[in-house]
Amino acid sequence: MDCIFCKIAAGEIPSNKLYEDDLCVAFYDLSPQAPVHFLVVPREHISGTDKLNDQNCAVVGHIFSVIAKLTAQLGLDKGYRVVNNCGEDGGQTVGHLHFHVLGGRTLAWPPG
Ligand code: AMP
Ligand code: ZN
Repeated sequence: MDCIFCKIAAGEIPSNKLYEDDLCVAFYDLSPQAPVHFLVVPREHISGTDKLNDQNCAVVGHIFSVIAKLTAQLGLDKGYRVVNNCGEDGGQTVGHLHFHVLGGRTLAWPPG
């Protein structure tokens, strides 16, 4: 399958990884939108949140526990934002489930 995040998870293409385990991989976004901007993806190819179900959704809870650990390690004690873009209207450009973690500055709300 020609999926860029599957290839990053498998180590087949380079990325600036900050964490990996059996279930997920975290790496810095190529086009950072905040002083800290990384992505967390499951190793399993799931194309988006619209494809989550009772059989494959446990990894999402794991990813959020990893996000809590990594943001603490990075010193984001003033807070941060976790973003998932789903589908065309959601602005999703890579068809492999991923969560953006943005921090290190005050983030506007609501988003555009
Ligand atoms: P989304 O628009 O939510 O699908 O987000 C995809 C994100 O992946 C964008 O923020 C891109 O900058 C980022 N991205 C695309 N290719 C790479 C890559 N090879 N390494 C790191 N980040 C990437
Ligand atoms: Zn994939």
